[in-house]
Amino acid sequence: MRIDILTLFPEMFAPLKTSLIGKALERDAFELNIVDIREFSQDKHKKCDDYPYGGGAGMLMTPQPLYDAITSVKTDDSHIIYLSPSGRTLKQEIVKEFATNYKHLVLVCGHYEGIDYRINQLLIDEEISVGDYVLTGGELPAMVLTDAICRYLPNVLHSSDSVVEESFENNLLEYPQYTRPAEFKGLKVPAVLLSGNHKEIADFRKEQAIEMTKLKRPDLLEED
Ligand code: SAM
Repeated sequence: MRIDILTLFPEMFAPLKTSLIGKALERDAFELNIVDIREFSQDKHKKCDDYPYGGGAGMLMTPQPLYDAITSVKTDDSHIIYLSPSGRTLKQEIVKEFATNYKHLVLVCGHYEGIDYRINQLLIDEEISVGDYVLTGGELPAMVLTDAICRYLPNVLHSSDSVVEESFENNLLEYPQYTRPAEFKGLKVPAVLLSGNHKEIADFRKEQAIEMTKLKRPDLLEED
């Protein structure tokens, strides 16, 4: 998998170089390329924004630098995603779909009041939102999407079980987990988890996952 992230603020992506994702990049488990849209501006001052036609608040990202930046990385295999509050809301099943179906993702980060709509018409395959709220730019959503996708790629996590047994698999939240000590501030770890009986542990965890989901996200149980 190769992910190209197009942004006016490449310095915002330092967090992706650390922790599990950073280690996976060092192992070449996937390829990450941060592209500075400003470098493609043909304006003598490298300007990339302008006033919206028809008036209105704020500035818009102009089409030329974006068009040239996207086409510089686009191939026949590319799926081009604009991070946008107008997109389909990101869910685990969408994350899995991207990780499984595509070899090359291009993530376009808007800023200011967004991008010239002709870029959507000419180049964007789909829009993805990270939730029904508005952020100042697409950089944090692009990091969220990259992080979530990478967890499904081979050789990124230490154990592939991690993604199989966690929240949103089978429309359930994760069961509560415990580590040492067996008693903390008067609260004991459920005895079954210390029993060594794998079948009973698996049954207990399944029950707990259902209970947690009923309690915290009953809407998930109504989904197909
Ligand atoms: N004027 C736009 C609107 O009303 O939909 C909001 C623009 S926002 C201030 C600037 C950029 O942040 C957007 O172009 C988009 O790339 C990104 N952005 C903001 N909220 C987002 C969200 N919930 N999901 C994904 N991207 C978002």
